[in-house]
Amino acid sequence: MEKFWRYNKKETMEFPKVEVKASFYRGSWSLIMECCPYCGEEHLHGGGKGEEPMYGHRVSHCINPSKGYEKGYELIPEKGDHRGRNSG
Ligand SMILES: [Zn+2]
Repeated sequence: MEKFWRYNKKETMEFPKVEVKASFYRGSWSLIMECCPYCGEEHLHGGGKGEEPMYGHRVSHCINPSKGYEKGYELIPEKGDHRGRNSG
């Protein structure tokens, strides 16, 4: 018997968190993932046109993906990228 409750319940889904480099080019952000957790390739994602790049969940751009790729991943800022922000 299928466990339908799993699909009804709104759980916080767990996505792999992947550090990306943000670069601003021609009025919009590009988020560069150097090593995809699913296929190991480099992927480029759009990061919007705001003052700061938009991170968060994305659908994976894999050409030869491994299992679970359909969940996508969560883009997070690269560590050590402070860029003049005063935090803490
Ligand atoms: Zn990939």
